[in-house]
Amino acid sequence: MNKANSIDFSFEYGVCDQITPLVRRVIANNPGPFTYTGTGTYIIGSNELAVIDPGPVDNDHLEAILSITKNQKITHIIVTHTHNDHSPLSKYLQEKTGALIYSFNENDINTGDENKFEEGYDKEFKCDVGVKDGDIIKGKDWTLQAIHTPGHTSNHLCYSLEEEKILFSGDHVMGWSTTVIVPPDGNMEEYMQSLEKLLQRNDKYYLPTHGKMIKNPQDLVKKYISHRITRENQIEEAIKSGNNKVIDIVKIIYADVDKKLYPAASMSTLAHLKRMIDNDQIKVSGSNLEGFYEIN
Ligand SMILES: [Zn+2]
Repeated sequence: MNKANSIDFSFEYGVCDQITPLVRRVIANNPGPFTYTGTGTYIIGSNELAVIDPGPVDNDHLEAILSITKNQKITHIIVTHTHNDHSPLSKYLQEKTGALIYSFNENDINTGDENKFEEGYDKEFKCDVGVKDGDIIKGKDWTLQAIHTPGHTSNHLCYSLEEEKILFSGDHVMGWSTTVIVPPDGNMEEYMQSLEKLLQRNDKYYLPTHGKMIKNPQDLVKKYISHRITRENQIEEAIKSGNNKVIDIVKIIYADVDKKLYPAASMSTLAHLKRMIDNDQIKVSGSNLEGFYEIN
């Protein structure tokens, strides 16, 4: 909904870029409307390595990761969340390396319904080590702390690299686009709280899974919070002027957007409406896309 028009950094698929002294990145060749230029897989450390978000099942990408790390040992495979562009290659990388797989620690996690507004969920995914908010994962020359940031998905984790004050922000905060929030697993109130949670921290840079390094992360996070509040004010105005169905609200607040994007815009609007109901700003008879929304 809020996307850059052109690619604003340079890279080549399968080629390793040294991003900081401890962090390398290789991008998978899966560009698309939800992945921008593709999944950025991060390799952390200089000897015993962590790989964050191995990416989709793609043999060229697996070969690239293995060749970049051939004289070193991958000891940890770490996942931000279980969308199909992030986690499925984990088990293939594990077969080659024996590394343990780390991800969010909830057995009964809602992995979401399939929908066409974002990447699907990796239903096959299994982790070896469940991680919760605040947990520390340590290698020889790196320390990662997990930060639970639900919103985009309920099981989303960011990881901070303590040695370099870098936050791997996954799909929670990306430079090229606002993240997609699709109910029921996506939750706008949790997303807003997870943005506020990042404002309490002092990470110097963010490295999102899609797109380039974010250099003024606090400014961007504040911008995303105010963008969502503006949307909710627009929704409230639209309802006040007699637009009580999701599609009618979408036609007003996304007047400048291609109609092809209306189904996705409707899901995003629905995520806002659910938050506004929880905050007692509005009420609904019926539910979801069919509901009749009114000011409380
Ligand atoms: Zn995602």
